[in-house]
Amino acid sequence: MFIIFDLDDTLIDTSACITPVKLERALSRMIQEGMEIEDFSQALHTLLQIDQLSDSARSALEEFIEINGFDSRFLSIGLNEVYHQFCDDLPVFPVEEAVSVLSKLSYEHKMAIVSIGNLDQQLWKLKKAGIDSSLFCKIHILEEKNKKETYQALIQEMNISPQEVIVCGDRIPIDLAPAKQLGCMTVHMKKGRGLYSSSIEKLHEVDFTITHLSQMQKVLLDISSKASFD
Ligand SMILES: [Mg+2]
Repeated sequence: MFIIFDLDDTLIDTSACITPVKLERALSRMIQEGMEIEDFSQALHTLLQIDQLSDSARSALEEFIEINGFDSRFLSIGLNEVYHQFCDDLPVFPVEEAVSVLSKLSYEHKMAIVSIGNLDQQLWKLKKAGIDSSLFCKIHILEEKNKKETYQALIQEMNISPQEVIVCGDRIPIDLAPAKQLGCMTVHMKKGRGLYSSSIEKLHEVDFTITHLSQMQKVLLDISSKASFD
């Protein structure tokens, strides 16, 4: 099989290790720029709570600014801190057992990463998380939130049928819905932002749901035994 992974909250524990630090820095920056906050810890607590239920750090900042009635100019300040300020002291960890699971999977399967973000940052995160990039035959970092064309190009490049492709990611609308439309199998990593998308999950009918990367091995066994019965 050919397995395409998302990166954030699929191979790297982004929501747990990176996002809170980035949002804290965004809040500090917005305060420096004039946002009037009485209690920093309380404000940070609220922002992080909003983030847990949001589909992106961007939506969390938007909501935080809106519900507190802050000037909308703070949004670009916060967004700049989250998405464009890069500090190499950020903590980055792989999801549990990612390093060993990926290594095992690589013996039998070809693997790729399709992720959205800044190229240098995403590659740096991969390295800092201790994930060996040579395990992947392709790594695509996209600027736009549109993965479908890249999936399609990969399928053509690898000269395989979509039925031989598994896409694994935490965000159903962005990672999995386009894969499903192309006829690929989909594995929902219920982690990070993917934790709160059960209603969308039903709507798009993902093929498998996992909560731990090691469950990919079972998914692959299920797929191969199903294929031998068909
Ligand atoms: Mg993700």
